[in-house]
Amino acid sequence: MTSFVIHYQEIALKGKNRPWFLKRLVRNLRRAVADLDVKEVKTVMGRIELVLGPTADPAVVGERIGKTFGIANYSYAGRAPLDLDAIAKAILEDLGDRTCKSFRVSARRADKRFPMPSPLIEREVGGRIHEARGWKVDLHNPELEIHVQMLTHDAFYYFGKERGAGGLPTGTAGRVACLLSGGIDSPVAAWRMMKRGCDVTFIHFHSYPILSRASQEKAKQLAELLTRYQQKSRLYLVPFGDIQQQVLLAIPGPMRVVVYRRLMLRIAEKIARMRRAQALVTGDAVGQVASQTLENLAVVGAVATLPLFRPLIGMDKEEIMDEARRLGSYNISIIPDQDCCTLFTPRNPQTKSRLHEIEHAETALPIDELVAKAVAEVEVLDLEFPVARKKRNPPVGDSVGTLV
Ligand code: ATP
Ligand code: MG
Repeated sequence: MTSFVIHYQEIALKGKNRPWFLKRLVRNLRRAVADLDVKEVKTVMGRIELVLGPTADPAVVGERIGKTFGIANYSYAGRAPLDLDAIAKAILEDLGDRTCKSFRVSARRADKRFPMPSPLIEREVGGRIHEARGWKVDLHNPELEIHVQMLTHDAFYYFGKERGAGGLPTGTAGRVACLLSGGIDSPVAAWRMMKRGCDVTFIHFHSYPILSRASQEKAKQLAELLTRYQQKSRLYLVPFGDIQQQVLLAIPGPMRVVVYRRLMLRIAEKIARMRRAQALVTGDAVGQVASQTLENLAVVGAVATLPLFRPLIGMDKEEIMDEARRLGSYNISIIPDQDCCTLFTPRNPQTKSRLHEIEHAETALPIDELVAKAVAEVEVLDLEFPVARKKRNPPVGDSVGTLV
């Protein structure tokens, strides 16, 4: 077998925009396999075909396809001439010594000009396989489903289907900026936005040199992991320690968490606008911690002038953790570090802050100056996955960060 056949689902529904969505999906797939021996990624009669070169490892290619958003399902597939004997022969060859208790053939005519209805194709090809192998045919609950799709000049065949990542092709929805802590929640929030077609820029606040570089290192690892889903990312590392010290001096303890978060949002928004991001994203969920009561979420959110999205807002911590495990971010998130907020967080944070009180307290701070300074001192890291083959000096490992 030399191909992958990829089916998209949701983007098939996008009416007039469909060709554009499809073009983005094909482009994303090409980028996702840029370092592998893939000869071609092309659309074929309502599907996408990815043609493998001789040295491509189907398992690695399959894994990359599985992380590409906009795909309903995909299968490692072969092509055979448009002839039932030839199709059955190719299937039997590729089945090798595989055995199963029951099977069925499911046929589709992508080109209806093939002079035989699908049920008849199923019966004819299925009959040949049954004869050769003696496997029982089970139309309703087969152990193995053999798919045959008739094209114009030849046919695809494949065994079973892998479930795709779903969602919309990354980049089709525009760009958002996600506040990425080293915690469990924000990487999941970022991933969910990617899944809805957003290109996500990451912004991390750290307290280096007051604290170690650990949180930056975690943010970098998380951004690298997430870059596997969108191929190119930018991570902004914002020094926040000075600001926290000023807040510590000027703001009463119980109000500090909300003031920190409002400062983070103001800075993030400046960066987001520079980057032409259309919204901010955080990993908040109602009631999870003191800063996430409805009152505090409202007071924090009031400072944003861009739309502020909180995709995890209604989720339980357990549910978020499950998703983080599936995504692979969980093990990075649980590496211990001194989060910039834990260090400066008082023991008695206010759970029901009031906007006018917070705004009044903030008059003790040179807000614009603090924001401008933080933005000026930002460090930028550009991430890419995979690293294109043509690049010189390939790095060790899978993805590379370059300081610009
Ligand atoms: P966890 O609750 O598992 O620690 P978290 O760090 O994402 O996850 P909080 O600390 O409650 O959760 O913060 C709420 C949100 O605020 C985060 O999801 C994130 O979007 C943002 N945030 C908090 N701290 C930072 C930080 N240091 N840098 C960037 N964003 C942050
Ligand atoms: Mg946290």
